[in-house]
Amino acid sequence: MELRKAIGNRVISELPTPVGGPTYLVAHACFECRKSWKLADKQAAICPQCRSELSRMGRGFKAPKKSDLEQWKKVEALWRAGFRFPSHESWRRIEPYPERFREVEAFIRENPDHPFRVTD
Ligand SMILES: [Zn+2]
Repeated sequence: MELRKAIGNRVISELPTPVGGPTYLVAHACFECRKSWKLADKQAAICPQCRSELSRMGRGFKAPKKSDLEQWKKVEALWRAGFRFPSHESWRRIEPYPERFREVEAFIRENPDHPFRVTD
């Protein structure tokens, strides 16, 4: 029961069960094709369309419409700056990501220690 709630109920049945743990699906995006896929974490993250490497977005990532160039630019800029998209429950007490692409630069500058930012 718990597990089913945690992983949601779409797509799961089509995916093989990974060895060594419960299925853990994470949204991966191709900024070139402006599409996203939910993949098991250990799966090779290559875009099925253009074969470029997918970006691991996080479980809470919701892909913009393919035609929404501005939103894709926004999420790509956030991702490149290290911002990730964890599951929705974690967002409550957190400075939300900007709505518009033009706000991203200031947001990045003002949130160097944002809890959803990874540094590598
Ligand atoms: Zn692609």
